[in-house]
Amino acid sequence: MTIHKAGFVALAGRPNVGKSTLLNSLLKFKLSIVSHKPQTTRHRLLGIVEGEDFQACFLDTPGLIDTPTDSLQKSLHVESSRAIREDADLIVYMVDVVETDPKAVGQTHVREGVPVLLVLNKCDREVAEPRLAALEAAYSAALKPQKIFRISALKNQGVSELKDEIISRLPESPAFYEKGQLSDRWERFFASEIVREQVFDLYHDEIPHAVAVVVETFRENKGKPDDVFATLYVERDGQKGIIIGKGGKDLHRLTERSQAMLEQFLGRKVSLELWIKVRKDWRKDPRSLKEFGYSG
Ligand code: GDP
Ligand code: MG
Repeated sequence: MTIHKAGFVALAGRPNVGKSTLLNSLLKFKLSIVSHKPQTTRHRLLGIVEGEDFQACFLDTPGLIDTPTDSLQKSLHVESSRAIREDADLIVYMVDVVETDPKAVGQTHVREGVPVLLVLNKCDREVAEPRLAALEAAYSAALKPQKIFRISALKNQGVSELKDEIISRLPESPAFYEKGQLSDRWERFFASEIVREQVFDLYHDEIPHAVAVVVETFRENKGKPDDVFATLYVERDGQKGIIIGKGGKDLHRLTERSQAMLEQFLGRKVSLELWIKVRKDWRKDPRSLKEFGYSG
């Protein structure tokens, strides 16, 4: 009998380093949400990369934020440090080689004893060798990584070597999740993430950060499109108007685009409906945070 390996892998690093992109590249299809705007990943997203004899469960942790300012950021902070401290068998710590200043590499929050793979990402961009070496030195001192990889998550360079290394380091264990299954919870979760991604694409300033998406209904219908009903909670009346737009045209566009993305993701037709509700200052309200799926 072959040995089965399974474990949790925390994808750590600051916002925008390419964690979601790496996950997508590892998964070969779009599961995690990729956005150019920081802090769109609020959940501990599980993506699963599996084969006959292994199952790697990825936690797409929010970037570590140095000074939490509001309740939402605080809950993000708690989430990500918890994923990294307690749940992970392995930490994949990503660094953006273009944006990171080697001289400003400071404190990191990784637990002693959990192996770390240091991943320098965006190596498709033109970056001088001394800069890469300086980054490697600075992060080696801070994180004591077992291995260092230079990759491009976007161009899929070096990703399969990284994947092999991750799998080889998983502990011996049976699978944590039924193989080959995307659960209902996942579909709901991805539906809400897909809508949120479109909110980030279509709206600006404080709007995307003020929106929480809750999928109320996800119903499969034989021979007909799935029904997906979701509520967008905003913090103030004014934000509701902005989301809806003149004559409802902005909400219409949001719905159309989200529906198209969701259909692409699921590989089947859906009928999406979005409602907007005001929940005053929900980001500061622990009960609302919990209700909307932000534990903390
Ligand atoms: P996250 O916040 O860490 O999850 O980062 P994302 O995966 O959302 O990526 C942030 C931005 O960096 C996106 O615009 C990506 O397209 C871009 N990006 C990610 N990986 C690479 C890479 O390897 N090369 C380049 N040039 N851009 C990348
Ligand atoms: Mg992300």
